[in-house]
Amino acid sequence: MPRVLLLLPTTTYRASDFLAAAATVGAEVTVASEEPSTLESRNPAGLLTLDFREPEECARRVVDFSRGHPIDAVVGVDEETALAAAAISRALGLPGNSPRAAAAARDKALLREALGAAGVPSPRSRVFRIEDGPEGAAGAVPYPCVLKPTFLAGSRGVIRADGPDSFLSAWKRIAAILAQPEVAARGGEAAKRILVEDFVSGAEVAVEGLLTGGALEVLAVFDKPDPLDGPYFEETIYVTPSRLPATTQDAVRSTTETACRALGLVHGPIHAELRLGPDGPVVIELAARSIGGLCSRTLTFGTGLSLEEVILRHALGARDERVQREPAAAGVLMIPIPKAGRLEEVRGLEAARAVPGVVDAVISAHVGSELVPLPEGSRYLGFLFSRAPDPARAESALREAHAKLEFTIR
Ligand code: ADP
Ligand code: CA
Repeated sequence: MPRVLLLLPTTTYRASDFLAAAATVGAEVTVASEEPSTLESRNPAGLLTLDFREPEECARRVVDFSRGHPIDAVVGVDEETALAAAAISRALGLPGNSPRAAAAARDKALLREALGAAGVPSPRSRVFRIEDGPEGAAGAVPYPCVLKPTFLAGSRGVIRADGPDSFLSAWKRIAAILAQPEVAARGGEAAKRILVEDFVSGAEVAVEGLLTGGALEVLAVFDKPDPLDGPYFEETIYVTPSRLPATTQDAVRSTTETACRALGLVHGPIHAELRLGPDGPVVIELAARSIGGLCSRTLTFGTGLSLEEVILRHALGARDERVQREPAAAGVLMIPIPKAGRLEEVRGLEAARAVPGVVDAVISAHVGSELVPLPEGSRYLGFLFSRAPDPARAESALREAHAKLEFTIR
């Protein structure tokens, strides 16, 4: 059996989906995580501890490891493993992205630079150092603008400002997030900076794709039917297929491919977000990973393959044909955290599951845990999934199911 090295951060939502996929694909798995597992000594081929913040060190450890247990593919899961995945693939001589391309996709400031230099539509941006204070910056940027950390995900710390007053308060909030010990340690130098971009208005879409030798295969385009006007940018509903005209979707596809080329991304999954401005698609984000949270569960391909199976088969080179998403429409609602506090009770789950078109409802936050809403928070309450003959019904099923849920938070 071939062996896949899965880079699974401890915070990932996707461990079980990737492990299930590896089982159906018929691959042995080595799971690498950043925290040592007590089981590692009992399962030396299956578990590895890697500090994903040190890609070259990860590569050295994996090269050593692979002498005893040859590795056929490396798959990074979530944003923070992309650099390690690139360094490891290169060290093992496996197809992958160059460390430079992975770095450009990982850091939002480098992303803007690379897209800008290649002439790919992308908001104008400037990086400011937190130690210089917000006053000068507040007078130097155009409004409305968006302030954000360069390395976080899930809209954490992404805040719109319409003028100097809201700029100053957004800056303070982001600086406080970046000063949290765990965030500061993970970000290093990047935790000392705030990126400020022009606000781009217009509908937003997400693109799930797979690169092979630089060619982009679009696996799905999702509409985001809830408005994303800020000041915080909570992800809620994703529905596929997109209801946008075919010509607009073609423009989204070609802009995404051009953006991949601008960064030098050539291999493996990508997740992009674009807004449809008056002059066409504008790239908001491009990451060398697949879709986050449990959202991949909306996607089924060919004869019933999951996105994780498609990604693993691709990584193993065991895939010769392009796959088609199923004909039905599908959607996911990332359940937002309505307020801060301790989650005491969740009601209405059965009623939500009984809504026609709803295929699953998962509460991923634990009862008893502290919930932190955006912009500080980094987790979802849970996920609702729907499948319907058309996107409008996939969307309305999610809204109806969400309305049935009640959360007691104290
Ligand atoms: P993250 O990696 O945390 O998801 P993003 O840069 O993708 O951060 O921003 C999250 C969301 O915030 C985007 O999906 C988009 O809705 C909104 N957003 C971010 N930057 C801009 C911008 N320059 N103009 C308009 N909306 C933006
Ligand atoms: Ca994003």
